[in-house]
Amino acid sequence: MDIVLTGTGSPLPDANRAGPSTLIKVDNCHVLVDAGRGVVMRMAGAGSLPIFLRAVLLTHLHSDHICDLNDVITTHWVMSQGNATLPIYGPPGTQEFVERQMHALEADIGYRIEHHDALTNGPQVDIFELSSGYQFELDQLSVTTAATEHAPVKPTLGYRIEHGEVAAAIVGDTLPCQGVDELARHADAYVQTVVRSDLVSLSPNSMLLDILDYHSDLEQAAQTAARANVKRLVLTHMVPAPSEDQYSEWIAIAQEHFDGEIVIGADLTTVSL
Ligand SMILES: [Zn+2]
Ligand SMILES: [Zn+2]
Repeated sequence: MDIVLTGTGSPLPDANRAGPSTLIKVDNCHVLVDAGRGVVMRMAGAGSLPIFLRAVLLTHLHSDHICDLNDVITTHWVMSQGNATLPIYGPPGTQEFVERQMHALEADIGYRIEHHDALTNGPQVDIFELSSGYQFELDQLSVTTAATEHAPVKPTLGYRIEHGEVAAAIVGDTLPCQGVDELARHADAYVQTVVRSDLVSLSPNSMLLDILDYHSDLEQAAQTAARANVKRLVLTHMVPAPSEDQYSEWIAIAQEHFDGEIVIGADLTTVSL
């Protein structure tokens, strides 16, 4: 299993970090978790494309995690010439969000059907709204959900994706909670969106300060990694985004709580399990 950090950014615009998304690749089975800003461009960089996707999994309906889902849907549709169906899984609310996206794309869908003889229908999506504790298969992958804590965003889901003996937990934006502990337990990789509370708390911007009460900070992520006894903590969605020479400082803070491997990097950083 390859875990590709297709977007390590956050809502804060960054020239070098795409919005949050993570790509799981096992042989020809590609699964995308979240679809933030620039996701299709980064998928191309990761040797993938929407047409290769077995499924899209959404952790929650915050805009930074879903704002380029429309590009995934449109690119999947056009590249399959309308013949493939894109399965999209997410928390309750996903159905309405995707349907509204399709309405927003209506004019474009009409233009392309009119212009291309090969296209006779619009995008085909299968939407599955999931609850906590749900388990399902995507080809050879087994996926389990658990509720996470990101209030007032509700409901939110994290995912544990297993292939044989290998397990990855991709939990999205959340405080430490029981659901994350369950998903991450003994995982080979635990991918956590993180903020640096020590740095963010220095900001004079009250809206930035607001993010502290619904994200895991770096230390909490490391504590969860230790409690869940994971092999690797993989950091993403880092606020504030670190420069490369700051990675060692982030790792040192996490190492105070967790003695396994800590992965931090740029977009397209890949963890192979
Ligand atoms: Zn969020
Ligand atoms: Zn976010």
